[in-house]
Formats: sequence, structure tokens, C-alpha cells
Amino acid sequence: MNGNLQKKQVFVPISCATCGNEWENSWHLFIYCPMAKACWEELGTWNKMLSLSNEADGFVQWLFKLFQTLDVSTLENIAMVLWGIWRTRNEKLWNKMVKPAEIVVSSALQLLMDWRANGSRNIGVGMVLRDSDGVFISAKTNVFVGRVGIKDAEAMAFKEALSWVEGMNVQDVIF
Ligand SMILES: [Zn+2]
Repeated sequence: MNGNLQKKQVFVPISCATCGNEWENSWHLFIYCPMAKACWEELGTWNKMLSLSNEADGFVQWLFKLFQTLDVSTLENIAMVLWGIWRTRNEKLWNKMVKPAEIVVSSALQLLMDWRANGSRNIGVGMVLRDSDGVFISAKTNVFVGRVGIKDAEAMAFKEALSWVEGMNVQDVIF
């Protein structure tokens, strides 16, 4: 019976790779995980993000609310730190390396400054796949090099998300 159930279970939720406490989903990993919270406090955006998370129905809606409320340079910082949190999570998972929040934020912002100084505008794309219960399945980030506008970047991100999902052979995806 037990073995049978295990065989039928397609997806087994794991605890957060970064803090080990809660089920890992994007909501936890990028907002409420102590690591994420420490990063947002370091960046000075935590209070705003927390109040928006109370109004949001899920991670994607929360992101949309950020986009509607915050200015472009703050959003750029946030995008870099989101990416930093994701990278930190992977480093913890694969190399057992734990970086303090100050380092995550400062290296993310440094990278952003380098890109601005180089005069090029690289586009970072992040995507998160969740099942119908909002449980985290997988995530992916990508950086495009080149100067493109916001609309083009959105299109590239969407195209990237489409081909990513296509490659995973899942159906009924809501973007
Ligand atoms: Zn966590």
C-alpha cells in the first residue's frame, strides 16, 4: 500500500533548500524564507514587499503588484536580488555553501552596476513553475546580453518560458 502510493506520487515536496524549514515553494523561497527576508531588509524593500504580499493571492500576483507599485531602478535591484536568492539556494543545495544576506545583496547590486557601467543592458529572466496547488516544481533563470527595451525583454522572457515549459512536456500551463 505504502510502496504503491509512493510509486504513484509524481512530485515529492521537499523542504526549503536554503533554510530547511518549510515546504519549498516560490512564495516561501522568495518572500518568507529567513534568507529572502534578510535580503529584502538589506535592500530596504521588505516593508513594502510584505504589505504587498498581504494583498497578493500568490507569488505571480505579488510580482505584478511590485511592478505596478515600484519605480524602475528599485525593480531592477529587486530582479537582481531575486536572482541572487535563487543562486544562493542552488549553491546551498549543490555545494552546501551558505552566503550571508549582505553578500547576496551586495554582489547582486555590484553585478547590476557593472552592467550599467559597461553601457550594455542585459536582461535577466526568471521563471518559476508551480503545480495547481502552488507547490514549487522548478525554476530557471537566464541572462540575455544586449540592449533591448522593456517590451522586447518581456517578449524574450515569455518566449523563453514557453520553450522551457515545452521542453518539460507539461500541459495546461497558466502564465
Ligand atoms: Zn526557507
